[in-house]
Amino acid sequence: MSQDWDAGRLDSDLEGVAFDTLAVRAGQHRTPEGEHGDAMFLTSSYVFRTAADAAARFSGEAAGNVYSRYTNPTVRAFEERLAALEGAEQAVATATGMAAILSVVMSLCSAGDHILVSRSVFGSTISLFEKYFKRFGVQVDYVPLAELSGWDAAIKPNTKLLFVESPSNPLAELVDIAALAEVAHAKGAMLVVDNCFCTPALQQPLKLGADIVVHSATKFIDGQGRCMGGVVAGRSEQMKEVVGFLRTAGPTLSPFNAWIFLKGLETLNLRMRAHCASALALAEWLEQQDGIEKVHYAGLKSHPQHALAQRQQRGFGAVVSFEVKGGKEGAWRFIDATRLISITANLGDSKTTITHPGTTSHGRLAPQEREAAGIRDSLIRIAVGLEDVSDLQADLARGLAAL
Ligand SMILES: *Cc1c(COP(=O)(O)O)cnc(C)c1O
Repeated sequence: MSQDWDAGRLDSDLEGVAFDTLAVRAGQHRTPEGEHGDAMFLTSSYVFRTAADAAARFSGEAAGNVYSRYTNPTVRAFEERLAALEGAEQAVATATGMAAILSVVMSLCSAGDHILVSRSVFGSTISLFEKYFKRFGVQVDYVPLAELSGWDAAIKPNTKLLFVESPSNPLAELVDIAALAEVAHAKGAMLVVDNCFCTPALQQPLKLGADIVVHSATKFIDGQGRCMGGVVAGRSEQMKEVVGFLRTAGPTLSPFNAWIFLKGLETLNLRMRAHCASALALAEWLEQQDGIEKVHYAGLKSHPQHALAQRQQRGFGAVVSFEVKGGKEGAWRFIDATRLISITANLGDSKTTITHPGTTSHGRLAPQEREAAGIRDSLIRIAVGLEDVSDLQADLARGLAAL
């Protein structure tokens, strides 16, 4: 026996291997140079041997690269690895998470179609639906995330997509993805899940029955706050449409960022386990502190959907929200008293972040809308990173002391 290999794909023997092995090996390619690391293809275009070769590749008769807006080997390696981890037939990489959501709607919806969106989605996602898709005649309605009967009642004959984030930001509400997929399919609609907070290490929505998964790879897939990217994953039939849109409109992922994300995926599961362990320890500790009125984290037994979170996810994620005594002033004093944790609205970084949702991510909402969404003035959100948990606890204790 020998480990004989040809240049090209190396992942043909991965049938049936575990998640951690796929995270390191899936999508791997090798050039004739024999490199062990992943090659980075920083090229905009590709050369052809003959005019006939060019014609065959342009027409699609022959396989191969033409132009990096269409295909790039480094981007493809990342797409194949992510598809393996999500259990998707195909994944397509995009320039940002927002470009992933844009590509789904632009490729699968038309004027006159109706989309249902869970109320508590990412701010730019709401702007995209409200300000832009509506302008092109796509109807959009919002539904509370958790209640299935509300979704069922809101579906219309022209409803094409249901779009959810589970768990939600910042209050960690969940929806039963398998049950919601059934509700959608019974009425001929597709379920799209933004899986950014969990990543496939904690939750695989396609395996639960969802049709499409989108990601902001900017967050935990990178995991170290270096670059922007996104992913759409699902069945080849739908991904063909998404690829068609991306190739034409151009919000494709750069090969440099794809290379960073390939490396990010190799440590994804290890990192997510560490994020989750520290987040749970801090949530349990916060819940016992005097200055804290309520902690929102699905890993806590006090969380109303704790049982669903245990069934649906392999961990409870890095994001913990809590309400402090003293309203907005209390929350701001708490935040300003921390020294180690970064005051920033970003998440999915090795560095822990802290933010006041009411005056940042949700600051543009009217006070009644914020109240309806459950975003109190006293609410603080942390996205727990990879520092030592006792140092994070000591920093949060500074915040508590300042209340
Ligand atoms: C950050 C984020 C997005 C948008 O991703 P970008 O990479 O910033 O474009 C979408 N959904 C969720 C849940 C996010 O956290």
